[in-house]
Amino acid sequence: MNRPNLILATDLDGTFLGGDEEHRAALYHHISTRDDALLIFVTGRDIDFIADLIRSPGMPRPHYIVGDIGTSVFHGQTLMPVAELEAPITAAWNDAGDRVKRLLASEPGLVLQETPFRHRVSYDYDPALLSPRSVAKVEAAGFDCLLSADRFFDVLPRGVSKGPTLLRLVETLGLDSENVLVAGDTMNDLSLFQTGLKGVAVGNSEPRLKAAIRGMKNVYSSSSPGAAGIADAIRHFSFKGGPRHEQIVTGHRLSSTAQ
Ligand SMILES: [Mg+2]
Repeated sequence: MNRPNLILATDLDGTFLGGDEEHRAALYHHISTRDDALLIFVTGRDIDFIADLIRSPGMPRPHYIVGDIGTSVFHGQTLMPVAELEAPITAAWNDAGDRVKRLLASEPGLVLQETPFRHRVSYDYDPALLSPRSVAKVEAAGFDCLLSADRFFDVLPRGVSKGPTLLRLVETLGLDSENVLVAGDTMNDLSLFQTGLKGVAVGNSEPRLKAAIRGMKNVYSSSSPGAAGIADAIRHFSFKGGPRHEQIVTGHRLSSTAQ
């Protein structure tokens, strides 16, 4: 690859996979056909989900995957872990899965997700039942607790989340941080915006995220949802080699005020 002019580090659900079919197809085509774009998925999903996803027609293959809310890193071609980047995460987690599950076994409103966990434990939570005490217990035990989308309760190694892990990847690869665009839609994407990298909160972002990014000068709040919001931001930040309007948007006009 040429030196990348665009490094798109994007959340999946609601962001890269969000918005309507036409805008998704246009963005995927744009990313797939330029040889100066580097694609990084930054997601709460695990590697099995990603492996299925990249088999779907038209889906660009990412060069790297920051998975499991920043607690895993994979090569996009082989889907094998990037050992160098995972080592500090593994050390911080210290095989805590069973300990966390015991700690939270009788907490109200938490349902353990049926996902293989490596360096995290995740639950679905019921906002009406969740107790602040559960969050406090997690933090007192030395972990971080991340609530997002009024649904996900994630227990992570302290200091590890999407943003810090992405930053380590960018530094390790020697990429120009000026050329990075991060994209997201829920609170587990806030750490991406806190890196100071250029970012876009897509139009369907959860209200708590919209409130949290208010005043962050590096973050563009697009009114277009999902993939259309990413395309909007690529133009907004005038990334070199970026798309002309008609290359990335088919059918109807997209502006920063369009829905
Ligand atoms: Mg999302």
